[in-house]
Amino acid sequence: MNTNSGETIQPASAAIDALRALHHGPLLLPGAADYDTARTVWNAMIDRRPVLVARCRDAADVVAGVNFAREHGLPLSVKGGGHNIAGTAVGEGLMLDLSLMKEVVVNPEARTAVAQPGCLLSDVDRATQAHGLAAVLGFISMTGIAGLTLGGGFGYLTRRFGWTCDTVLSLEVVTAAGEVVIASETENPDLFWGLRGGGGNFGVVTRFTYKLYPVGPEIIAGAVVWPGADAPAVLDMYRALTANAPPEQTVVAVLRKAPPAPWLPADIHGKPVVALFVCDTGPLAAAEARAAAIKSFGTPVGDVLQRRPYLAQQTLIDGTQPPGRRDYWKSEYLPRLEPEMLTKYIDNAWRMVSPFAGVTLFPIGGALNELPEDYSAVGNRDAAFVLAIAAGWERAEDDAANIAWVRQTWQALRPFSTGGTYVNFLTEEEGDPRIRDAYGRNYERLIDVKTRWDPTNLFRANKNIAPRS
Ligand SMILES: Cc1cc2nc3c(=O)[nH]c(=O)nc-3n(C[C@H](O)[C@H](O)[C@H](O)COP(=O)(O)OP(=O)(O)OC[C@H]3O[C@@H](n4cnc5c(N)ncnc54)[C@H](O)[C@@H]3O)c2cc1C
Repeated sequence: MNTNSGETIQPASAAIDALRALHHGPLLLPGAADYDTARTVWNAMIDRRPVLVARCRDAADVVAGVNFAREHGLPLSVKGGGHNIAGTAVGEGLMLDLSLMKEVVVNPEARTAVAQPGCLLSDVDRATQAHGLAAVLGFISMTGIAGLTLGGGFGYLTRRFGWTCDTVLSLEVVTAAGEVVIASETENPDLFWGLRGGGGNFGVVTRFTYKLYPVGPEIIAGAVVWPGADAPAVLDMYRALTANAPPEQTVVAVLRKAPPAPWLPADIHGKPVVALFVCDTGPLAAAEARAAAIKSFGTPVGDVLQRRPYLAQQTLIDGTQPPGRRDYWKSEYLPRLEPEMLTKYIDNAWRMVSPFAGVTLFPIGGALNELPEDYSAVGNRDAAFVLAIAAGWERAEDDAANIAWVRQTWQALRPFSTGGTYVNFLTEEEGDPRIRDAYGRNYERLIDVKTRWDPTNLFRANKNIAPRS
């Protein structure tokens, strides 16, 4: 195994035995039964073999792992849900696998949830919805809360309440020095600021405390789908709709080829479609009236926009994003939708190569725009939409064609960007200047936080912010 300096490091078996003696969770060496499961991440383009996997059960295990990596000069990586497209969760040194740390404790009176870092979105959604509450999380229920929250985080509730990281109240963190500290507005506020957007650069988070909001449990949500030929008219309607929508109504637009969903007619499967995914958490009668305007537009080929549990909406499109495909994305923030941009969006989308590709517009404008740029490190408070150009495919021989389509579409749409990009959507090869673009004016302050909390850059398997030398 090679370190950054090119030197080969294999910790002595006596050192691994010593770690095993104080570790509560299993340690996995290559060849162990769960080793391949642990090292596998969502994006099949990533195939790395850590020297050692430490499956942590608690913060003490994380402390032991951080100290071990530091003392033995081993590259360290941290895996939450393993969903990051860049595959930063897995490296070739010591991987801390937090997937066994899945406890969620909800305090319905205080409207807070304390979640461990191995939780997937579905773990937190299920625990909070039992009390009619929800945290601001993402759209695919198998995503890890840890990476999502630390990189910013957005989902159907973002227009109402802001970035996920804006709704975090405190974090328990294992630092590069192997200490357990609390980061909040009142304790270690510089660390708290940096962790809310700065990703895994400053420590390993072992507990997230989220603010919760009353949502559902029944809402008006689902999807309406039209043939691809209707995209110009549907997106024109969409532009007006999203310009006037209240924060309770989030409508996501996707151009893709129709999946073989049972609620879509068989003759449209595999053909271009335009889909609107709607999540309206407003009072039911008003939400139903807003939905009616969408449902009656033109001639949809599929319509499952209806009263449904919030939990059902949170898993509605899970099937479209399975693990194990090869994936490549590009993303930009948009300040608004412009007719010229939408024309280019449609023209380029239909050149997609894979049946699993899609170009998506996620509206996020609302609460996050009302806070100052430096409220938390994520910044980008001029963003109204996330544009995501995503290809997923199955065979390595299709890599070049899919990557080329993503890049061409990105080049065509990039002129409409705010100049910012979502750090959690950056692919493996995207380092500087894209990381700087992701943080804009907050970047220099992030370097200060990094220099204070991780001066030797122990936490560098991430979208790295290097400390000052
Ligand atoms: C299908 C799919 C759908 C998505 N949808 C959304 C969405 O709706 N909204 C959204 O905002 N994002 C979305 N994302 C992006 C998602 O936020 C990132 O991929 C995120 O990194 C996933 O978190 P994870 O814990 O699964 O990441 P991992 O791959 O496990 O980790 C990624 C990085 O996060 C850091 N990290 C993880 N755990 C910790 C920890 N406990 N302490 C410190 N650092 C840690 C490490 O640097 C690690 O390298 C989606 C991704 C996918 C693949």
